[in-house]
Amino acid sequence: MIIHSKLPKVGTTIFTTMSQLAVEHKAINLGQGFPDYMMSEDLINLVNNAMRSGYNQYPHTNGLPLLRQRLAEKVNKLYACNVNGETDITITVGGTYAIYTAFTTILEPGDEVIVFEPAFDSYLPNIEVNGAIPVTIELQYPSFSIPWDEVRAKISPKTKAIIINSPQNPSGAITNEEDINELRKIVEGTNIFIISDEVYEHLVYDGKPHLSILRYPDLAERSFACFSFGKTYHCTGWKMGYCIAPAPLTAEFRRVHQFNCFCCSAPVQVALAEYLLNEQAYLGLNNFFQQKRDYFQGLMAQTAFKVLPSYGSYFQCYSFDNITNESDKDFAIRLTKEKGVAAIPLSSFYRNGTDNKVLRFCFGKKEETLKAAVERLTK
Ligand code: GLN
Repeated sequence: MIIHSKLPKVGTTIFTTMSQLAVEHKAINLGQGFPDYMMSEDLINLVNNAMRSGYNQYPHTNGLPLLRQRLAEKVNKLYACNVNGETDITITVGGTYAIYTAFTTILEPGDEVIVFEPAFDSYLPNIEVNGAIPVTIELQYPSFSIPWDEVRAKISPKTKAIIINSPQNPSGAITNEEDINELRKIVEGTNIFIISDEVYEHLVYDGKPHLSILRYPDLAERSFACFSFGKTYHCTGWKMGYCIAPAPLTAEFRRVHQFNCFCCSAPVQVALAEYLLNEQAYLGLNNFFQQKRDYFQGLMAQTAFKVLPSYGSYFQCYSFDNITNESDKDFAIRLTKEKGVAAIPLSSFYRNGTDNKVLRFCFGKKEETLKAAVERLTK
C-alpha cells in the first residue's frame, strides 16, 4: 500500500529528537519546554475529587459549560473584552490542537498564510496538511521584531490568514502597541483572519502587559485566539487548551472540532473550572517565572554564551557565535552528548534552516536543575 504523503518533508519534531537524545545521554533537558517541578497539589486533588464524584463520561463537545463561563469571566476582566463562554469558547486538546483546528477551519487549498520565523514548529505542517501555502517572513535578528514593510509586500489576494505569537516561541519577543497598529492597518477592509497563539499569555516580564488580540475589538472580530492550561498550571502533559473566537467563527471551528476529538477530559475540566477561581494561580506567574529567568541569566553570565533580549515565555535564547563555527544543530547535539545539557537549535524553527548560531534554553525548571546545567556548561 502506498500513501501519497501530505507532509513529505516532515521529520520527527526537534522537541522529541532533543528530549530523546537528552534521555540517552542522561543530559539535563533545557530543550523541550516543560516544567520539571511538581504542579499544584490542590489542582491534582480537584481532579481526583471530580473523578470520584462521577465526572467520568463525555462532557459537552464544546467544553464543560461552567469552565467556559469562568474562562469568559477571566478574559473579560483581564483583557476588557466581551467574550461569551457559551458561543465564543471551545475547550481543546492543548494549544497546538486549537491552532491546528483554527487553520483547518479556514484554509482551502492554495490559500496563503503569513508566518513569522523562527516559528513554532507545528505551524507550517498545519498549513501544508490543509493544502495551503505558508508565506514565511523572518523576524529581524537579534531583536526578533516584525518587519512590517515586508509583511505589506507579501500580502496577496490569496492571503487567508496571519499567525501571530506573543510571547513568541522560541525568541521570547512580545508584540507592542506599534505592532498592533501595523497589523490593524494591514487587515482593515480585508478578509484576512488572524490566528493569535497566546499560550504564554501569563509569562510576560519586566512589568510589560500582554497585548492579547482580545483587547482590540476590530482585530478580535477576525481572530482565533489560542490558549493553554498546560503552560499556566505547569501541566503540559494534560494537553488542555482552548480557542476563543467570535460566535460565527467559533461555529465553524466547532464543526471541525466535533468530528476530530469530539470532547476533552471531563474530570480535568471540572477541576479547572474550580481552580480558575484562584486568580493568584495565574496572576503570580509573571513573578514566578521572571525570578527563574533572572536566576538563569545570572548563572549563564559566567559562560561565554551571549544573552539575547527576551520579555516573555519560559525560553531564553543565547548566541554562541563567539564560541564555535559549528552549525547550531551540531553544537546542540555535542552539548547534549559531551556536556550533558540539551537545548534547542533555532534553525529548526526556520523553513530554510537559517542559522544565526543561537540556542533556545527553557528556564521553566527547578533552580537546582538550572544551577546544575550551567555548572556543566561552565566546565
Ligand atoms: N511548546 C513546547 C516547546 O516549544 C513543546 C511542544 C512540543 O513538544 N510539541 O518546547
